[in-house]
Amino acid sequence: MSLENKNWDVIIVGTGPSGACIAREMARHHKKVLLLEKGQADLSINIPRMLKTKEMMFIGKGKTLVRGIRTGGTSVLYYGTAYDPPAKLFAKFGIDLSSELEELRRELPLGPLRDELIGPAAQKIWESAVNLGLAWGKLDKFIYQDLCAPGHFPAEALWNATRYVRDAIEAGAVLLTCSEVTRVIVNGKQAIGVEARVQGERQKMYASQIVLSAGGLGTAQILQASKINKAGEGFFCDPITIVQGLAEGFEAGKEIPMAAGMIFEKEGFVLTDLTLPKLVYQLFSVQALRPNRVWQHGKTMGIMVKVRDGLGGSIKRGKVHKIFSEADKRTMQLGESKAKEILLHAGAKRLYNTVWTSAHPGGSVRIGEVVDSNLKSEYDNLYVCDCSVIPTEWGLPPTLTVLALAKRLAKHLLLSALN
Ligand SMILES: Cc1cc2nc3c(=O)[nH]c(=O)nc-3n(C[C@H](O)[C@H](O)[C@H](O)COP(=O)(O)OP(=O)(O)OC[C@H]3O[C@@H](n4cnc5c(N)ncnc54)[C@H](O)[C@@H]3O)c2cc1C
Repeated sequence: MSLENKNWDVIIVGTGPSGACIAREMARHHKKVLLLEKGQADLSINIPRMLKTKEMMFIGKGKTLVRGIRTGGTSVLYYGTAYDPPAKLFAKFGIDLSSELEELRRELPLGPLRDELIGPAAQKIWESAVNLGLAWGKLDKFIYQDLCAPGHFPAEALWNATRYVRDAIEAGAVLLTCSEVTRVIVNGKQAIGVEARVQGERQKMYASQIVLSAGGLGTAQILQASKINKAGEGFFCDPITIVQGLAEGFEAGKEIPMAAGMIFEKEGFVLTDLTLPKLVYQLFSVQALRPNRVWQHGKTMGIMVKVRDGLGGSIKRGKVHKIFSEADKRTMQLGESKAKEILLHAGAKRLYNTVWTSAHPGGSVRIGEVVDSNLKSEYDNLYVCDCSVIPTEWGLPPTLTVLALAKRLAKHLLLSALN
């Protein structure tokens, strides 16, 4: 389909939570919206394919990084845990997300799990942590709990951004999948369109406003190809390991992940219970050289350690290069030993750690450095909204934050279109 001659009000690049949310808001306000998505609809976890499409990549010494290149972005793979955006951090940049957060809380299935939906491993870990004097507590989830029952957690119960993509299309937005944006087209100081490979064919498309929501890695690459070279200098990826042990006296393996946990703010890590999907568990067991554990999914309980890493490394010319500092490694060790203490106290045996992986790349197009507090770049009409704009080290599940930023940006775009 050639769309070269059509003039759009807004082109949005990427259909993760940020892009999907902006598209939905703009389409519902009768704007002509074009959504360009590099991937296509896919709900599967197919490791060879994920390696081929760079959804899963190695970032040094066996460490992996995972993101979603598909309709709905990384939210199609996520665990649906919600943390409020840190108000103080955003206040430093003159950003108040409280009204957007209220809107999101009204329209999304956000809240802690009902007691009976907390699985036996998460329950044991919680009891153990509380026994050790820790302020462990339930986490908010993006889950339609009326679709769940104890031991029954259907995929459709987990909210993800494909729902917002669907709403946007129903309100008139056009979605093109298999469409990879390669650069922004500029005229002097103004962004006027994007160049993309649409199902293999190079096309140029034009709009009054352009929003890049291609994720913590993808957006920096597009900006560099558009001569904004500061993008991609440093990024965080919130590395995690999972400390896993064998449990007795209950059936593990089938529960909602990340039901409860605790932020260790000063130390710089987060701990939560984590029951991995079976396939991922098996992959991690092999990667950690524990082939004897591959068939023990139903007997395993685990705690995820997520670290607030520094902004080391770069995203340059399509290459992702991450450097973890000695301080990052020490924080991980601290988190691991706390997780081990809780698991041992809960009765788990034969503990081991999985190899580091990361699931939240961001901070590569920081507010205050590459975009302003309205998320506008150095070009007029060119905005960025996704994990890349997070202004500093992070260490928290980011989805609720990027959704709130997306709602705020949509309001700004609608207002600017009036002027
Ligand atoms: C296993 C796992 C578990 C997670 N669990 C949680 C959790 O519990 N809670 C939480 O808050 N977060 C979680 N996350 C992270 C969360 O999913 C992401 O942080 C969130 O989806 C980021 O949203 P985004 O809009 O910034 O980018 P993304 O969701 O990554 O979306 C970016 C989109 O842009 C598209 N794109 C990229 N490049 C281009 C291009 N050149 N042209 C066109 N399109 C492009 C991609 O295909 C993708 O659709 C998890 C992630 C993983 C991998």
